[in-house]
This record gives sequence, C-alpha cells and structure tokens, in this order.
Amino acid sequence: MSAQPLPVVPSEVQPIVPKKPPVGPEALEHKQLKRGTWWQKIPAYKAVDEATFLDHAWQAKNSITKVAKLVETIQELVPPGFVEDLEAGMKRAPMSVRVSPYLVALIDWEHPYEDPERIQFFPLGSRLLSDHPKLGLDSLHEQADAPTPGLTHRYTDKALFLPLDTCPVYCRFCTRSYAIGLDTDEVEKVHLRPNDDRWKRAYQYIASRPELEDIVISGGDAYQLRAQHIEEIGEALLAIPNVRRMRFATKGPAVMPMKILTDDAWVDALTRIVEKGRKLHKDVVLHTHFNNAAEITGITEAALGRLFERGIMVRNQSVLIRGVNDSVEAMTLLVKRLGHINVHAYYVYVHDMVQGVEDLRTSVDTAIHIEKNVRGSTAGFNTPTFVVDAPGGGGKRDAHSYEYYDRDTGVSVYSAPSVKPGQLFTYFDPLHQLSVHQQRRWADPREQQAMVEDAVAKARGRAR
Ligand code: SF4
Repeated sequence: MSAQPLPVVPSEVQPIVPKKPPVGPEALEHKQLKRGTWWQKIPAYKAVDEATFLDHAWQAKNSITKVAKLVETIQELVPPGFVEDLEAGMKRAPMSVRVSPYLVALIDWEHPYEDPERIQFFPLGSRLLSDHPKLGLDSLHEQADAPTPGLTHRYTDKALFLPLDTCPVYCRFCTRSYAIGLDTDEVEKVHLRPNDDRWKRAYQYIASRPELEDIVISGGDAYQLRAQHIEEIGEALLAIPNVRRMRFATKGPAVMPMKILTDDAWVDALTRIVEKGRKLHKDVVLHTHFNNAAEITGITEAALGRLFERGIMVRNQSVLIRGVNDSVEAMTLLVKRLGHINVHAYYVYVHDMVQGVEDLRTSVDTAIHIEKNVRGSTAGFNTPTFVVDAPGGGGKRDAHSYEYYDRDTGVSVYSAPSVKPGQLFTYFDPLHQLSVHQQRRWADPREQQAMVEDAVAKARGRAR
C-alpha cells in the first residue's frame, strides 16, 4: 500500500501558551562559569599565561605549603592581621597545608574570612573552636576494620584500598587526618606510602574473600598515582574474579582540573583500565569531591568534557561544611553545576567528627533541611543522598534514618543492621549550634553521660 500524503491543515498556527512564567537569570546561574585569564588578578600570577596555568606540573610545583610563600603570592591583597591569624591557625591544625595555584586564584583575598575555598584549606586561629568532647582522631574506625595496612573491609561486599597517603592538596577537614599528609605540630601520622609488598597483601586479601565485589582506590588521592601505578593497580584488581566494580577516588578535578587536560599519560592509563573493565563487563569509574560551585570553572568544564568523551563516568561526594555549602542556595547551585558538567551528585556527607575543625561542622538537622529543599530541583539521578558516616564504624546512614535524634542535645543515634547488626552508633552536632543551657550540660562529664545514655535508650526502644 502506498503512503498517503498527510492532510494540509489550513488553520492559523496556534500560539504556545506558557504554563510557567519565564525563569530569571538566577535559575541559570549554574551555567555561568569563570572563563578567561581570571588567575591574573593574583599579584604573583599576573604574567602567568594560559599554557603555563594549565600545566599540571607547574601547578604542583607552585602549590602553597608555607605562609611565607602565600604572602609572596598574594602580597598586599589581604586585610591587616590576616597573616598572623593564619600562622596561629596553622600551628594548631591536624593537617599540613598544600594548596594549588588554581585554588589560590579562586579565593577572594580581599574578603578571605567568608571565602569558601579559604575556609576549606587555610585554618585561621580566630575561627577555631574546641573539639566536641566525644571526638576521636580515627572516628570512623578505619584502622580497626583493616585486615592489612591500608585496606579497610567494613561493608560485606566492599573494601577501601589506600595505596598512598599524599594528595594534590590537603583539606582541613580530612577524615583521614590520622594518615594523610606530613606530620604536624598536633598529629604524628600513620604513614601509608606506595609499597609493592603492602599492595600485594591487599590484593591477596581481596582475592581470598569472594564476597568482595567493589573496591574503592583512594588514599591519599589517585591523582598522585603515576600513570604506571594506575595501570598496575587497575590490572591487578581487574584480574581478581570476584572484583566487579572499581572506583578511583580523587579530589583532583575540583582542585587541579588542568591535569586532565595536560597529563596525557595519566588520562590514557585511566582510559585503558576503564576500557579493559568494560570489555570484562566490570565497572570502573572516577569518584571526585567538589564542595562549592565556585570550584567549577571553564577549565573544569573542558577537563570533565574530556573524560565524558572517553566514556569515563564521574560521581561526586561532597562534605557538608559550614560557610561553604550549608545553605539551600549554595548546595542547589553546586548540584545543578555538577549536572551541567556531567558529574553525578552522589553523596553529601554530614561532616565527620574530625579533630581541629569544629568550626566547619554543621548539624544533622541542617543536612535534613537542605536535602528536603534540594530534592526536586533537578533529576533524581543527579540528586545527592545526604548521609552520616556513623562514628565507630557504622558506615554511611541516610541522615534522616536515625533511630532517635534529640535536636536540643544534638545527639543522634543510628543503627546499621546490614553492617554491624545489633549495634547503635551516635553522632553529635557541634556544640556551638546548641543553646547556652545545653552547652553548659556538655561541659559536665556526668551530664554528657546522661545525655548519651538517654538518647541510646530511646533509640533502642525504637530500632527494628
Ligand atoms: S583530598 Fe581527600 S584524602 Fe586528601 S586531604 Fe582532601 S579529603 Fe583528605
């Protein structure tokens, strides 16, 4: 039967009637990325051209590790008293300082106290608060769950492999401040240097446990692994029959995205492992760590575009940090901007209980409020789950899945039936967000005990 021509409709074209009002420019802010030679506003980078700034080796070589080098770089930009404040902060910090020129140039040095990147990477004496009385250095008990050094086996089917202990930058809030970076005045570290024998023991353990299917390769940071090491580790893990999924974890794209544009050997090595995994029907992806939308620039867009073209899936895990992303507006902008560069927003962690960074923590209540408002602002697969990584080794729990939460005392209690059945895990909101009356109770050790016992007893009555 021959096709009949479609009838011609002689009527006028009907106008489209909008059902929603047009959006304002703020709704498209996630697409407005910093472009051009924006780093040249920093005195020391005035003459740094694009090719130099995009060179990852230049970025690593010129990273800031000392106050004197920072002062030389930013010169007169900062307000009076700031440098002394920074020196005081660095003396009390559990993490050593290393900050890439990319991040240094993103900071608004005329207003450094409120800047989200300054808050994450440069400690200030005037902003530090006393630690919560229930805080410990390895609060997640990673070392207690390690059958061999640098391998944590907590969840049944998943292990965390830490091949090295260095990163392209050091974050003030690092959960692994017990191991990452150089020793500081405050902390002598457990070192996890790249070591063939240590790595082989980790592979042997993984191969001996058929239930292990999912391996996270973190650290430290996979950006610091040489291309040859990416391939060695990738090949060794892909060869283990029970391993079905691998994730290379790196903060790199957020703090030094140019490496993806200019370190061809590293990107090619990762691509080969991803492609080999695909042929074996094993999933190999990259996990990264953006915390604020300002970290995503035109350079990031180009870098992540390169990974996307190569079919490399990238997921993001943020930490909820006071002054960085603890508002509905800041988190929504971050999530939308991640979607714009094809990065899946996967998790937002309520800040772990880490030594020396009490000023950065927020409450479980804040997390639940932000999650409620972010959900619905974009597609579900681009919407992060907000989790508490339960201190004591309970693993990640949905922030709102507590068995009991006393917003007055700041004690929340979680269970983890598939990880550690029968146990309860407590998380504590920062004291500075509690009322003066509750802060006084926390100053008394007997009251502390009573508050925790009360919350745990109520949780025990509810847990199923
Ligand atoms: S990049 Fe990750 S492992 Fe390294 S210091 Fe930052 S949070 Fe810690």
